Amino acid sequence: MVEQGLKTSITGRAADKGLISFNAVNIRDFSNDNKHYKVDDYTYGGGAGMLMQAQPIYDCFLSIRDSISDLSEDKKLRVVYVTPQGSVFNQKMAADLAKEQDLVFLCGHYEGVDERVLEEIVTDYISIGDYVLTGGELPAMVMIDAISRLVPGVLNNDESAMTESFAGGLLEYPQYSRPEEWMGKKVPPILLSGDHKKVDEWRLEQSLIRTKERRPDLYEQYMIDNPPKPEKKKRKRKPKPETEGE
Ligand code: SAH
Repeated sequence: MVEQGLKTSITGRAADKGLISFNAVNIRDFSNDNKHYKVDDYTYGGGAGMLMQAQPIYDCFLSIRDSISDLSEDKKLRVVYVTPQGSVFNQKMAADLAKEQDLVFLCGHYEGVDERVLEEIVTDYISIGDYVLTGGELPAMVMIDAISRLVPGVLNNDESAMTESFAGGLLEYPQYSRPEEWMGKKVPPILLSGDHKKVDEWRLEQSLIRTKERRPDLYEQYMIDNPPKPEKKKRKRKPKPETEGE
């Protein structure tokens, strides 16, 4: 599922060009159960559902770590456990993870994973939102996609990653392509003016309006980080001291 999904479209082309590479490893291959390749069992203390066991996951992790030849001794391999219990994924986290040479995503299933192996190998707990999915593959693919497009060269136009939503703390402004008029709706004339400074000002203004409307939480944070510059007060000329005795 993961490889099939990622090998298409932009991530697929980036992999063909050698800009990124991904390798899906099946935890079942590390099961000690040679008959059914079982990797899950009941939870201690009772309760519904099965839990992924520690041993196959740990052995799988060791095999991945050993396969990374250039991993230096002192450098800890980043292992992301995708879980609804993690910090909610955002663009800043994507940018941070994009700096890593190697990343491992642990995808849970069933009720999740035995806590002890998480304590042993996981460096980051990340969620893709406050809802529960059946498995970690889709969240891992979401994160890999967002991270990959920040790797230089993956997008044809690296600038688009710098101006788009979240990059500067705001949502992106509305955009238009040909034709100039569609269903009676005209492209805002300023975009046809050729005045880049005016276009930039308009776009920032639109980004602010849009963010305030759709994501007041982001807007609030943006205004804290970028407080409006106080308007320069016109300095009043000091009144001339009245000369006495006139
Ligand atoms: N019992 C767990 C949920 C298990 S869901 C709990 O209450 O926390 C099964 C697996 O799907 C998880 O182990 C995790 O890897 C993945 N998963 C489900 N929802 C997710 C989300 N919102 N973000 C990231 N991973 C998620």
